[in-house]
Amino acid sequence: AKELGRNNYQFFSEDMNRAILEHLTWEKEIQDALNLNQFSVYYQPKIRLDDLTVTGVEALLRWIHPEKGMISPDKFIPVAEETGQILDIGHWVLDQSCREISQLMARGRLAPGSRVAVNLSARQFTDPNLIEVIRDILNSHSLPPECLELEITESTLMKDVEHAIRIMNDLRTLGISFAIDDFGTGYSSLSYLKRFPVEVLKVDRTFVTDIPHDDNDMAITAAVIAMAHKLGITVVAEGVETPDQLEFLRRNRCDQCQGYLFSRPLPMHQLEQFLTQFRIR
Ligand code: C2E
Ligand code: CA
Ligand code: CA
Ligand code: CA
Repeated sequence: AKELGRNNYQFFSEDMNRAILEHLTWEKEIQDALNLNQFSVYYQPKIRLDDLTVTGVEALLRWIHPEKGMISPDKFIPVAEETGQILDIGHWVLDQSCREISQLMARGRLAPGSRVAVNLSARQFTDPNLIEVIRDILNSHSLPPECLELEITESTLMKDVEHAIRIMNDLRTLGISFAIDDFGTGYSSLSYLKRFPVEVLKVDRTFVTDIPHDDNDMAITAAVIAMAHKLGITVVAEGVETPDQLEFLRRNRCDQCQGYLFSRPLPMHQLEQFLTQFRIR
């Protein structure tokens, strides 16, 4: 038993070393990616179900690595969150997406009231410089604050509810709006929802995926939409891939949809093509 214990320990420790080494490699590669401009922002359109118009886009970070190809944000954002590099990355994403969307609007490709939604990580959300950073970025690209929406996950909000409400109110006085991302996956109680100054709630993809086969998911989705509407909150469904899902969401009065059915996240030049074609229909 002792022998086994020691072997286990050695195995565990080797694993740990590998994990630490991997982590350090990641950190260095993320720094290189920032310096060498390997990051890029893709945009996924959000569609209003009433009239099938584009209400805006979600900005999604892409890392195009010269050897490894496209690396998923799900892989490197958690690392960047741990190392603190997410502050620099997040700043870059905000700057890049506000610049590109402002230019797109100037070219008349996106209606003036449209929004760009940018994901904020927990660390960014609690950064004391956040308001200053956002104000500067909006100014430098002449983007009206009404055109910026910040997506924040339920778990980020629940870390410190009072603090979250304060930051959100401060940013809202600038004219910026908020969406709760991945709704339904965290532990927030519904009673909190009305305390957060949010305009939009995004139903997590996991609830949408199995529509119209999973009765529970359909019941939850319908209930979330109804409840949000009673609170005056707009509902966006994520991960809509099929006409059946669209039909269900439409029947249950979901406001907007986002998903591969309409479009994958696209680089700017392809988004521009999508927008011209979509408008003709
Ligand atoms: P998220 O904010 O929940 O973003 C939605 C994810 O679902 C995106 O994955 C998007 O490409 C994907 N998606 C959209 N429509 C469909 C669909 O119809 N089917 C399926 N299967 N997937 C769909 P992506 O781009 O890989 O991003 C993953 C996560 O990484 C995001 O989840 C977000 O949490 C994070 N992330 C991405 N960009 C940023 C960023 O700039 N800052 C921060 N802090 N996090 C980001
Ligand atoms: Ca999001
Ligand atoms: Ca989401
Ligand atoms: Ca997610």
